[in-house]
Amino acid sequence: MANVSVVRVTKRTRTSKDESDEETVADLSAGCPCGTGSSYAACCRPLHLGERDAVTAEEVMRARYSAHVVDDLDYLRRSWHPDTCPAIIAASDESERWLGLDIRSTERGGAFDGEGFVEFVATFQAGVQRRALHERSRFVRVSGRWVYIDGVLEF
Ligand SMILES: [Zn+2]
Repeated sequence: MANVSVVRVTKRTRTSKDESDEETVADLSAGCPCGTGSSYAACCRPLHLGERDAVTAEEVMRARYSAHVVDDLDYLRRSWHPDTCPAIIAASDESERWLGLDIRSTERGGAFDGEGFVEFVATFQAGVQRRALHERSRFVRVSGRWVYIDGVLEF
């Protein structure tokens, strides 16, 4: 089982305009990195903060993508099945940057399911190369909460 996606963590590119050490998205009303069209404050942030749990597997998928963007390693760990979560979730280097998430399909993973699948394509910039990660991820519930367990890379 490949789970390449989940060990990649990209730091947000800093610019000279950054005035504080805030690592997360500074403008909470800005669009959520996961691309729902909602603000980060209304979309993935409450999941990152643990203010609410995801209702669907897709929500976890989106929140995990956003966690990569904002470098929330703690959320990545919390949303990862303990059996498959690596001991160390390392941040990847500054030359990589996430560009967007496209949810291709979902299968089960609803409010009344115990297992679900989300197929997605995440694009990122690695140096001068633009690359895409296409994976069908599997989610299960642990103590009622959705977590990522593993995935199969699609080509
Ligand atoms: Zn979101």
